[in-house]
Amino acid sequence: MKSEKKLKITVNHNIEEGVMKKITVDADIAGRNEMGKIDFAALRAGGLIKQRQKDKFTVRLNCPGGRMSVEKLKAVAEAADEFGGDFVHFSTRQSLEITSVDYHNFKPLIEQLKEKGQEVASCGPRVRVPTACGGCEYNPNGITDTQAMAEEVTKLFFGERTSHKFKTAFSACPHDCIRSVSADLGFQGAIFPKWDETLCTGCTICASACTEDAIVSDAITGKPIFDASQCVYCDDCVRACPTYSWKQEKEGHIVRVGGHGGRHPIIGSIVAKFLTDVEALDLIDATIKWYAKAAEGKGKIRIGNLLQERELMDDYMRALEKAIGKEKLVENPELPQRIITNPKGVAV
Ligand code: SF4
Ligand code: SF4
Ligand code: SF4
Repeated sequence: MKSEKKLKITVNHNIEEGVMKKITVDADIAGRNEMGKIDFAALRAGGLIKQRQKDKFTVRLNCPGGRMSVEKLKAVAEAADEFGGDFVHFSTRQSLEITSVDYHNFKPLIEQLKEKGQEVASCGPRVRVPTACGGCEYNPNGITDTQAMAEEVTKLFFGERTSHKFKTAFSACPHDCIRSVSADLGFQGAIFPKWDETLCTGCTICASACTEDAIVSDAITGKPIFDASQCVYCDDCVRACPTYSWKQEKEGHIVRVGGHGGRHPIIGSIVAKFLTDVEALDLIDATIKWYAKAAEGKGKIRIGNLLQERELMDDYMRALEKAIGKEKLVENPELPQRIITNPKGVAV
């Protein structure tokens, strides 16, 4: 028996017919087109995004860390050829999107992709697919395994409901190519260097390698004088030293919380340093739980906006302390920093 259920999606654009008012797309769930069992959860999650063109949707794929196996890529290309438009789009957050899919084709498209292990992504107020740079697996600057972290976060937390969108990002070194500073929870690979004088020949290479002036050479011996306050934790001195005098004393993830882009951007605050992968996952878990509680009764609110209040930041830090201990937490961290687009309220 055919289901009478209707799928209603309200949109405010239909460019082909020049309709700009709100319209509703009705789709039979079980009808001529054998829509059968639409995955409503996935649809609501917004992995299927209404386009301006009538009946057309962009299907956003789940690509943790922007990585996709060649096998899956071929399957996506075939599916896009069969069900999509003339092009695919790489989203700003590394998801591959199949554009111009007629909603009647959701079911066969999703099933075809699923057969190859390719899932649809999510949107809306939930934990999103993590973004990540190539990481230490093959990138010469990489300190942390960002790709493994993106996989793990997807496995453990992807799709969890949150008050507003919740984005994680993993950069493997302080270059921060993935912009962890503007993620709700951002991770950046880092080391803290330690010098062993007994092995040092005073060659001055490390001072040249350090572009932050955290190392200068002694005028007489050529040996390094280290200013920790200038160090950005990049590992260049360790890699440059020919005698292994510089080593990593600490290594792991620097963590920033509360960043986001959008109309009212915020730069995240550093709350923890040199976390292991396991500690980083525990911190994510604790953050999601704290966020759910702290946002109760406040409507749709990003974590960075919640953390504008000192009291809430202190409460958040207490939650982190319970989860990972005190040792690696930053004492009294700054609040996430708002970027004011128009401070003087004038046009230019
Ligand atoms: S963040 Fe560092 S490791 Fe990652 S891509 Fe950029 S330079 Fe390479
Ligand atoms: S880790 Fe980087 S910034 Fe720090 S001292 Fe070494 S080269 Fe300089
Ligand atoms: S590069 Fe190594 S050996 Fe040369 S001055 Fe620096 S610490 Fe000493």
